[in-house]
Amino acid sequence: MTETHIIKETGNKGKGLYSTKKYGKGNIVLFLEGNYFSEPTRTSIQVGEKHIESWEGGHVNHHCVPNTKVVVEQGEFNLMHFLVAIKDIEIGQQITFDYETNETEMAEPFKCRCHGRWIRGKGQ
Ligand SMILES: [Zn+2]
Repeated sequence: MTETHIIKETGNKGKGLYSTKKYGKGNIVLFLEGNYFSEPTRTSIQVGEKHIESWEGGHVNHHCVPNTKVVVEQGEFNLMHFLVAIKDIEIGQQITFDYETNETEMAEPFKCRCHGRWIRGKGQ
């Protein structure tokens, strides 16, 4: 766990990931590192054809108006994946991304609290 994020209770959605520093739009907020799976799990994040299970990434909640997005980039030796800020993020704000812009099919679809629509994945 890094010192730039903290996992804590959201009050209504279980745990979430919160920033403990400021990020400007375009900054890398979180590198996604962990084990890869061929099928999605409840806490995995889709990166290309695979799904990465990252401790901190697994705690990032969905938001329809999120403050980060998943970026996959070809590095020198392998693919790199991270969450990039799409707006300025203040200390103490929850870090979110829109699952429907990234996940083809959710392992566990859920009803979003902000509009009551089912979040199933972008391919659904
Ligand atoms: Zn929503």
